[in-house]
Amino acid sequence: MSFSALQLHPTLLETLTSLGYGTPTLIQKQAIPLILEGRDVVAAAQTGTGKTAAFCLPLLNALCKGKRGPAHSVRCLILAPTRELAAQIGDSVRTYSKGLNLRSQTVYGGVQVYPQVNGLKRGADILVATPGRLMDLVQHEAVNFTHLESLVLDEADRMLDLGFEKSLNELLTLIPKSRQTLMFSATYSDHIRKLAKLWLSNPAEVAV
Ligand code: AMP
Repeated sequence: MSFSALQLHPTLLETLTSLGYGTPTLIQKQAIPLILEGRDVVAAAQTGTGKTAAFCLPLLNALCKGKRGPAHSVRCLILAPTRELAAQIGDSVRTYSKGLNLRSQTVYGGVQVYPQVNGLKRGADILVATPGRLMDLVQHEAVNFTHLESLVLDEADRMLDLGFEKSLNELLTLIPKSRQTLMFSATYSDHIRKLAKLWLSNPAEVAV
């Protein structure tokens, strides 16, 4: 199977060619068609499997068809446990969204909050965030989730290990129920399954 068999925007296919990605990885083969269909997906996948592209490519495909939201609004929110991972995902989003005219921003703690508040004034198509800093930004009224279309919880097991469950529950009350939700986790515990039931709607399960 090649990437061109997946129904992706021509600009995305050009980017993949220029990156030298010949064929989709196993997680990409399984997850991309489901995400393109609009399904919620819970996936067990480790770093190194190509999981970032597995969620970014179909979500970017959907975002480039829709309209940009008003000030402060976010259309796609990607949550990650650590600033290192958030920065890495932010870089991937920038790489994959080249030429698509989408605005992305990455926010995490340990740096001043005000530049991030300012950066969100015009809204973002994609926001990559750590949960703690995102809650700070919510308190600053810097973000609005009314127009949120998709939510990704990456390395969900690590987010729980780091004590973010309460923040995530709080955040989920602010986000429209009609969103598409994707949950990626290296491990598949009972706790993860329980939260997937709570936070996702009839999710398809994928494991590599
Ligand atoms: P990840 O599991 O998301 O951390 O990705 C691991 C690495 O695989 C990253 O450096 C990606 O650039 C690369 N990668 C992702 N998908 C593909 C693909 N289909 N073909 C070749 N490399 C890929």
